[in-house]
Amino acid sequence: MNEATSRRAEPTRTTHVTTERKIPSTMCQHQPPCPTAESADRESARLVAHHPEQGWSLLCNGVLLFEDTGELLPDGQIIAPHRGGARLMAV
Ligand SMILES: [Zn+2]
Repeated sequence: MNEATSRRAEPTRTTHVTTERKIPSTMCQHQPPCPTAESADRESARLVAHHPEQGWSLLCNGVLLFEDTGELLPDGQIIAPHRGGARLMAV
């Protein structure tokens, strides 16, 4: 049914990438491991560096998180800011 179709569209990640990782920049040594940079939940990884004066934070999964909620992933991918409301006005 529908489920089979969407499964087929997914990259076959589990078949060939097990021990070898494309992204070596993860610094996560937490147990349980934090969400990876590919995860939709990537922002819940722990902070390893926080520079509010420069407006960025580095997460242990290698994601660079900017104060405008934009993100730079370890593979160079840029996530546009996704601010939820007018919270930024409270400076
Ligand atoms: Zn971690």
